[in-house]
Amino acid sequence: MRNIVAVSSLVLLFLLCTSGKLEYRKAYKVRTVVIDAGHGGKDVGCNGKVSHEADIALQLALQVGNLIEKNLPDVKVVYTRKTDHFVELIDRAGIANKNNADLFISIHLNSGPAAAYGTETYTMGLQKSEGNLLVAKRENSVILQEDNYKENYNGFDPNSPQSHILFALHQSAYIDNSLRFAGKVEREFKQKVGRNSRGVKQAPFLVLWKSFMPSVLIECGFLTNPNEEKFLNDKSGQSYMASGIYRAFREYKDELEAMN
Ligand SMILES: [Zn+2]
Repeated sequence: MRNIVAVSSLVLLFLLCTSGKLEYRKAYKVRTVVIDAGHGGKDVGCNGKVSHEADIALQLALQVGNLIEKNLPDVKVVYTRKTDHFVELIDRAGIANKNNADLFISIHLNSGPAAAYGTETYTMGLQKSEGNLLVAKRENSVILQEDNYKENYNGFDPNSPQSHILFALHQSAYIDNSLRFAGKVEREFKQKVGRNSRGVKQAPFLVLWKSFMPSVLIECGFLTNPNEEKFLNDKSGQSYMASGIYRAFREYKDELEAMN
């Protein structure tokens, strides 16, 4: 009798472990993605000769989301904005956290000297590069247009390098998968879309700071470069870019889920 009890307990324990394991495996699906169109409303972002960053970012974000919704119906797509309106940086990460997103993708356009061109995908982090810091400072400076930025960002000063360094220490738990996805985005841009990839970079972006999931910020090209501005305003140019981001997402999802 004692043996039967012992064996039954072992069998029960085995079943509990196995079912627990199965549930654990299920948790590794990429279920929800948040697509964040940078800027909007009173914040137009950077400017080209004929276009604003906020408008092109929205077009690209809607197209990426649409491709995911159409082709990967098991993924829930959440947008931080679907129209031209202002969303505070902290609320963008908040939307991602509230939806338990598995990935946060923030879409932007770059600004620089007329000769600068190409794509860059950023993860949160520290890299000793003045250029990266300049991009982060420009993207972060939008908080000056927000009402309570001093309270919301714990005294963050977009003009202070020290502030940027402090904030770069967050997001470190998600850095591996952020880099994994960022690498795929830049590879797609370079190999499939034929763009000049300026690579995967790291810098302290406020919009990525408080999200609790792998997060990237994509600079899809320079509006200050006439050729790129033309390409990024072109319907087919936009669809090439959106398809590149979509394929990177699909590959990222397949890769993570294959590790189960
Ligand atoms: Zn931007």
